[in-house]
Amino acid sequence: MDEKTLLMTPGPTYVSEDVRQAMARRITNPDLDPSFFEYYMETCAALQQLLKTQNKVLILAGEGILGLEAACASLIEPGDRVLCLDNGIFGNGFADFAKIYGAEAVFFKSDYDRGIDPERLKEFLKGDSDFKVATLVHCETPSGVTNPLDRICPLLKEHGIISVVDAVSAVGGEELHTDEWEIDVLLGASQKCISAPPGLTFMSISKAAWDKINSRSTPIAGYYCNLSTWAAWYENRWFPYTQSVSDIYGLRVAVERLLSEGNPQERHRKIAGALRSALESAGLTLYAQDSHSSTVTAILLPDNIGFDTVFNQMLKEHNIMIAGSLGYLKDKAIRIGHMGENCYEDKVYMTLKALGEVLEKSGVKLGCDMHIEFARNMKK
Ligand SMILES: *Cc1c(COP(=O)(O)O)cnc(C)c1O
Repeated sequence: MDEKTLLMTPGPTYVSEDVRQAMARRITNPDLDPSFFEYYMETCAALQQLLKTQNKVLILAGEGILGLEAACASLIEPGDRVLCLDNGIFGNGFADFAKIYGAEAVFFKSDYDRGIDPERLKEFLKGDSDFKVATLVHCETPSGVTNPLDRICPLLKEHGIISVVDAVSAVGGEELHTDEWEIDVLLGASQKCISAPPGLTFMSISKAAWDKINSRSTPIAGYYCNLSTWAAWYENRWFPYTQSVSDIYGLRVAVERLLSEGNPQERHRKIAGALRSALESAGLTLYAQDSHSSTVTAILLPDNIGFDTVFNQMLKEHNIMIAGSLGYLKDKAIRIGHMGENCYEDKVYMTLKALGEVLEKSGVKLGCDMHIEFARNMKK
């Protein structure tokens, strides 16, 4: 990889020059500098705007997984029944974090190549709704499926269940209304659609979630994952640990870029739609059957062609990095990330042009020039 490699993976994504410049600024002492507490708070306010929430927002120093684990550690008490909505690798894996903190995990399973059907969930909850917490994923990054939070989260709320949503690969690229959709804990991270380097996680926490955290009968196991230490950070001008100053400078600029754009979700929706239809016109098969993500697309590999071949040729001959997939989709799918700074017509155009050449060189017959078809779709 070099300075010019086009990074088209579903995170980390390209980081713009102004975000990198912000990270190069002189640092301060975040525990002593009064203006840093304000800066952190203003950055949280920018995130509130992006998430469309009045709930308290925190930024934690650690990659996205820290948010998932901190939510589980702080909300779940040993023996709590936790409903894990599972229609993909991250949804399934969320249960592992819940179990570490003593949850009795109960799965609501649905097809991995489709969005969760709220009607089926509604029926399920009629039979059993005795859950303290539910975990779910907004965008299943390995498969490119986006779940309808607008219908799922209010349903959970009706049953008094606290929703914990992993929206790491969706925030900034997918429609999201945290308060209107009654999402209790919304988790995001810096390196996907936000397009800052990996290293920060952020989360919004509703009053119901804080009440659960504050009324536990057992102490929270751990310190770094203990959200209750943050309860009065601003009032006390005290952080539980020294903040990652440079990362926060970068995050702030990245979030402001998205906010100043107005409606980045529409840009993502349009690019993703034009991309999918170009892929299908060429005769390629998308993995997802419905509920297609606006931030990542998983394409099934044509027969007799391995992921390594596509990956290596894309990188060596075209200087473009795309991704494979994980778990049961490993070696079966390739993924193009069209998140944040990667979600622009020129980048997707170049990626499709290169992908077309690589596939045809390997003997795959394509029904059209995908890049040309894509550009045509963008004009519609
Ligand atoms: C990227 C991502 C995370 C963070 O996990 P990593 O595997 O460490 O990058 C969490 N959840 C989802 C849905 C993600 O896409």
